[in-house]
Amino acid sequence: MVGITRAQRARGDRPVVDDAALYIADNGRCLCGAHLGNMARFTGRDISGQKVERMTPAAARKALRVFHWEPACETCGRKAS
Ligand SMILES: [Zn+2]
Repeated sequence: MVGITRAQRARGDRPVVDDAALYIADNGRCLCGAHLGNMARFTGRDISGQKVERMTPAAARKALRVFHWEPACETCGRKAS
């Protein structure tokens, strides 16, 4: 993984995710772009190869209304803005 990231940095690749946004990855884990992990940050897919899905404001509101769960990053607690 480190090797992949180093090669991408060397090429000047930029993360494909927004650090301030929330994403659903890794079998339903909720993480902000900054904590998705380098694989997902640079490729848009987590280490199991699944596409990470950006949580839209509408989806965040629905989660709160339906599941009484306010989406937040599991690492830093950042909430959908
Ligand atoms: Zn975070």
